[in-house]
This record gives sequence, structure tokens and C-alpha cells, in this order.
Amino acid sequence: MSNPQSGRFETRAIHAGQPHEPVTGAVMPPIFMTSTYAQKAPGVPVGDYEYSRSGNPTRTALEANLAAIESGARGLAFASGLAASHTLMARLEPGDHVVAGDDLYGGTYRIFTKVFERYGIKFTFVNSGNPEEVAAAMTDRTRYVYVETPSNPLLRLTDIAACSKIAHDHGALLAVDNTFATPYLQRPIELGADIVLHSLTKYLGGHSDLVAGALVTSTDKVADELAFHQNASGGILGPMDSFLVLRGIKTLAVRMDRHCTNAMAVAKHLEASDLVDKVHYPGLESHPSFELCKQQMRAPGGMVSFELKGGVAAGVAFATGTDIFTLAESLGGVESLVETPPSMTHASIPADVRHAAGLMDGLVRLSVGIEHEADLLSDVDLALAKVARI
Ligand SMILES: *Cc1c(COP(=O)(O)O)cnc(C)c1O
Repeated sequence: MSNPQSGRFETRAIHAGQPHEPVTGAVMPPIFMTSTYAQKAPGVPVGDYEYSRSGNPTRTALEANLAAIESGARGLAFASGLAASHTLMARLEPGDHVVAGDDLYGGTYRIFTKVFERYGIKFTFVNSGNPEEVAAAMTDRTRYVYVETPSNPLLRLTDIAACSKIAHDHGALLAVDNTFATPYLQRPIELGADIVLHSLTKYLGGHSDLVAGALVTSTDKVADELAFHQNASGGILGPMDSFLVLRGIKTLAVRMDRHCTNAMAVAKHLEASDLVDKVHYPGLESHPSFELCKQQMRAPGGMVSFELKGGVAAGVAFATGTDIFTLAESLGGVESLVETPPSMTHASIPADVRHAAGLMDGLVRLSVGIEHEADLLSDVDLALAKVARI
């Protein structure tokens, strides 16, 4: 496609950043397995590249594609989502302040509090679902408002447009972790965000076969600053994984449609069970952000979490009682996964902090895959029967 910004989402996802390869006409972008590039004279490269930490054509194709599908100016691809977080935070100075949501991915909380607090960056964690709490936490040193929406694992929503206004009124940037929603369901930059973060490991890769991350910016200026730190610290994505993420993104729209219909069916099924106390899914009318979800997202996504009445023992019985849902960390692949956040993904958050944020011990999180809906519902029943027996 000559203009990667043109075309609707599904078209951009397949074509942006990937013109036919000029030498052979290959329709798919080659995997440029090279560390270095020939120079015509010292400091004068033959093409646009000098060394693959600074740039590699397969990674460039992915970065252009990510910018196009997130409606951003530029994209940067990293070795993992947390490598992207590292570069995002490396842009700050000691004494700078970040207002962050209190329901974050456990590894994000860990890198903020255990790594960057040691370098003099200050964090205030608030319920970002309440814009007043975000506004109240802003200081004259606040550089980022950092939110995840939907959040992990409670699927709480944050009003992106409201947070962008608060951040901009205080001269700060809004960064949104869009991993759970994906750009097919939600485009934060169109709602006023300045930076989007992704764990590409999840839905964008989509097949649980790689680890990768990304930052997408709304301006070239912020992209240049982040690209400096990316090149300086070196957490870049290799060409093979860049190719695999590009391949995953081609089917993102069709996968997400199925993830969403299956997740809605599973959420309704769980809500109807006597053994379940509460289901967290923004597509249910019982969800506190049901209306915001309709405004800000195309559909509610593929993640569902719920609290079983029987606490830890019930959560464990469910998570070990399924046949199709695999007990594993991570999410966003074509296959369904189940996990118990307090003892798995969120174990790095102290118990008192977890409880204060509403993350209870009997919580179970599902990444609903794209298998047949009826098989998934039978599998949920199988696990609930095991819960009933404890
Ligand atoms: C997995 C994840 C991350 C971290 O990404 P990695 O690729 O595992 O480093 C960040 N945010 C969210 C919401 C995630 O699910």
C-alpha cells in the first residue's frame, strides 16, 4: 500500500509498513538477519542502515505498521513489554513524578517501584478509573500519567480522554498500556494519549510464540527522545520476532472479533453460576464502566476475571479443573488460558497492597481464546463442578 495511513483498520493492519520488497517483489517482508550494513565510504552507508541495534528493515516494517494501526506518528519495537517500559521511564530525570493506576500489570508495578524509584523517580498510585483522584495527585514535577485500560486483572476502565486533559493541563504526557484492548478495539492516541505501550507478546503477536513490546507516540519529538534511549540501552526486537509480530497483526481483527464473542458468552455463563460472587467484564451491564466501554472501545475484549465465593481454595480448584483452558501466565493467544493472579502474575505485589486495590484471594483470570464457544462453556462447567465439590 503506497500510503500506510489510508484504508480502514483491517486494511492498514495487513499492508502498512510492508510495500512489496523492491528486489524480488516478495509480498512478505524479508527477515533481514544481519547485524551490520556495508558502507560506500567511512560513515556513508549504502542504504538507510548502519547497525541493527539502531535500525533493521524488518523491525522498521513492524514499527511503521504499529504507528499506522495505533494512529500514531511513530512506533518503536522492543525485546519485551517491560523493555518498552524501561525506555519510557529512562526518558525521565531524578525528582520527576509519575501518577499511575493502582491496578497495573505486576511487572510494571515492579519496574516502577523496585527499579525506577531507586533512581529518584517518584510514583503515586491512584484509582485511575476516578479522574478526580488522578487530578488530585498531579504535582508540578509530574511528567507522565500512566494508565492501563482495561486494567489487569480487574478489567477496570479509565477514561482516556479525561486523563489526557488532566495530564495536558499540568504539562504532562498521558501514556496508556493498550495491551488488553489492542488497537482494533481502542485507539488511545485518537482519544488524546501521547504514548501507547504494548506487550506484543499478547494479542498482537497472538500465538503465544514470542516475547516483544512496543511504544507508539503521537509526535516525532517524543519518538526521537525515546529512540535515543532505545538505541542507548539496546532493548530492541530482533528481525525474526519482528516478522512474527507482523504476521500476527494481519489477523488481529478477525481474532479479536472471536475473542470478544467467546468472552461475552463465558462472562454471562459465569455470572449465572451460584458459585461465583462477581464477574469483571466491561461488556456486562453489571460492570461499573459499561457505558464508558461503549464510548471508548469497539468491543469489551477477550479477558474475563471473576471471584469465586470459596476464596483461594475455590480459585485453585477452578484453575486446575479445566481441560481446554491451560493453567498458565500470559494472555492474548488463540488458545484459552486460566490463572490465579494472587499466586501467579500478581505475586510480586505485596498482599496488603493487592487487597487495598480490590484484588481478592479467590480471583481467577481467563484469557478466552478462539476455540468453539460451546466447548469453552462446557469446560467452565467442568471446572465449576470441581469447585462445587470442595
Ligand atoms: C505482559 C504485559 C506487560 C509486560 O510485557 P512483557 O512482554 O511480558 O514484558 C505489560 N503490560 C501488560 C498489560 C501485560 O499484560
